[in-house]
Amino acid sequence: MNAYISRVLSGLKEKNAHEKEFVQAAEEMLPTLSAVVDNHPEYEKTGLLERFVEPERVIQFRVPWTDDSGTVRVNRAFRVQYNSAIGPYKGGMRFHPSVNLGILKFLGLEQTIKNSLTGLPMGGGKGGADFDPHGKSDGEVMRFCQSLMTEMYRHIGFDTDVPAGDIGVGKREVAYMFGQYKRIAGAFNGVLTGKGLSFGGSVGRTEATGYGLCYFAQEMLKKRGDSLRGKTCVISGSGNVAVYAAEKATQMGAKVIAMSDSQGYIVDESGIDLDQIKSIKEIERARISEYTARGKGVYSAGSSGIWHVPCDIALPCATQNELDLEGAKALVLGKVKLVAEGANMPTTMDATEFLTANGVLFGPGKAANAGGVSVSGLEMTQNAMHLSWTKEEVDTKLQAIMADICKNASVAAKRYAGNEEDYVTGANIAGFLKVAEAMMAQGAV
Ligand code: NDP
Repeated sequence: MNAYISRVLSGLKEKNAHEKEFVQAAEEMLPTLSAVVDNHPEYEKTGLLERFVEPERVIQFRVPWTDDSGTVRVNRAFRVQYNSAIGPYKGGMRFHPSVNLGILKFLGLEQTIKNSLTGLPMGGGKGGADFDPHGKSDGEVMRFCQSLMTEMYRHIGFDTDVPAGDIGVGKREVAYMFGQYKRIAGAFNGVLTGKGLSFGGSVGRTEATGYGLCYFAQEMLKKRGDSLRGKTCVISGSGNVAVYAAEKATQMGAKVIAMSDSQGYIVDESGIDLDQIKSIKEIERARISEYTARGKGVYSAGSSGIWHVPCDIALPCATQNELDLEGAKALVLGKVKLVAEGANMPTTMDATEFLTANGVLFGPGKAANAGGVSVSGLEMTQNAMHLSWTKEEVDTKLQAIMADICKNASVAAKRYAGNEEDYVTGANIAGFLKVAEAMMAQGAV
C-alpha cells in the first residue's frame, strides 16, 4: 500500500475508532487508490486525502415529535454534507434505529464516489435519524418528518444540498418532508428528490436503483458473452431496491427464487410472485413471512440463510454487512456466477475477496446501485428546467449511465489493476479521480 494512504488510514482509525462502518469503508476504499496516489505526489502536499476522509460538515439535531397517545418522543438526526467538490451535496435520508454518525459518514463517503461515477454534477451527502417507521401510524410518521424538516430546511437547498430516500424513507416520507419544506421556506423547488409524480418527481425514480442494478449486472455479463436470461436469482431485502431489482431481473428473463426481510426469507422455486410482495411490503407494511400465508413458497426465520439457496446470481439489496464470509462460501458452493450489490457495502471485505478469488463476477454498490441517484440527478435537471421527461426518456438515460459506469470502471480496472473485471478497484479509481481533480483545482478548501 502507498505510504501516504497508509498514514492517512492510521490517523483515520485513531480519530474515528468508534465509527466502525466508516473505518471499514475507508479501509476498503483507500488501499485500492494506491496506483493513482503513487502517480500524484502533489496529493500529499495539499493534504488531499486528509480532506477527502473528513466530511465538510456534520449537522446533528434533535427531533421531538408527538405520538398518537400524546406523549412527546425525541429522536436524534444528522445531515452529513460530505463533499461538494463536483456539485451540491446529494444523498438519501435513512430512518432506522441503527442510524449513527459512523454509518452516515460511511454512506457519505460511498455516495461521493458513486455520484462522481454517474457523470452528473453531484457532490456526496447522507443523513438520517434513529427513528423506526415500523409500526408507526401515518400521523406519527408525518409529525416526525415535519419536525425533522423544521430544523433541516435551513441546511439544505436545491443548489446546496438535495436529500432523497434510503432505508425507511420512501415516497410517503419524502412527501411529508417536502410539504414541510415548502411551508417553511415558502418555495416550491427541487430541494428533495424521490418526490411524487404530481409535485415534481421523476418517472422511474422509484424503480431506478433496482432497474439500474440489473442493467449493470447485464453489462458485466455481456463482457463474458452471457446475460441474465435463464438465470436463477436470489435477492435479499424486500424494500425499494430489492422489489424493483426483482421486477427488472424477471423482465430480463431471470427467475427470482428467494427474497427476505430483516426477520427471515422466502423461497419459491416457481418464481417469486412480485405482486404479492409489493402488496405485503408496500401496502400492508407487513412481514415477508405473510407470503406463505397466501399458499406460496417456504419461509425460514433468520435473514442470512438466504445465501444458502443455490443460484446463478445474488443481489444483496438490504443493508450493510449482510453478506459475510459464511454467506459467500455458501454462494460459491451453490455455484453463483455473479454478485452485484444493490445495498451499500452489504458484502464484508473477506466475503468480497472470497467471491472474487473464486471467479465470481462482483459489482460493488458504488457502481452497481448508482441508478437511484442517477435518476435523482435527472429529477433535479427536470425540476430546474420545469419540465417532465417520459418514462422511455428516463429509462434510456438510466441504461446509458449504467453502461458508462460499467465501462469506465472496467477501463480504470484494466489500466490500474491489470484486470478489467476488478470492478472494486476500477469504480473506486474512476470515481475518485474526478473528485480529486476538482478538489485540486479548487485549492485547499
Ligand atoms: P427499504 O427501507 O425500502 O428496504 C430495506 C429492506 O432491507 C427491507 O426489506 C428491510 O426489512 C431489509 N433490512 C433492513 N435491515 C436489515 C437487516 N439488518 N438484515 C436483513 N434485512 C434488512 O430500503 P431501500 O431498499 O431503499 O435500501 C436498501 C439498501 O439499498 C440500503 O443499503 C440503501 O442504502 C441502498 N440504496 C438505496 C437506494 C435507493 O434508491 N433507495 C439507492 C442506493 C442504495 P424490514 O422490512 O424487515 O426492515
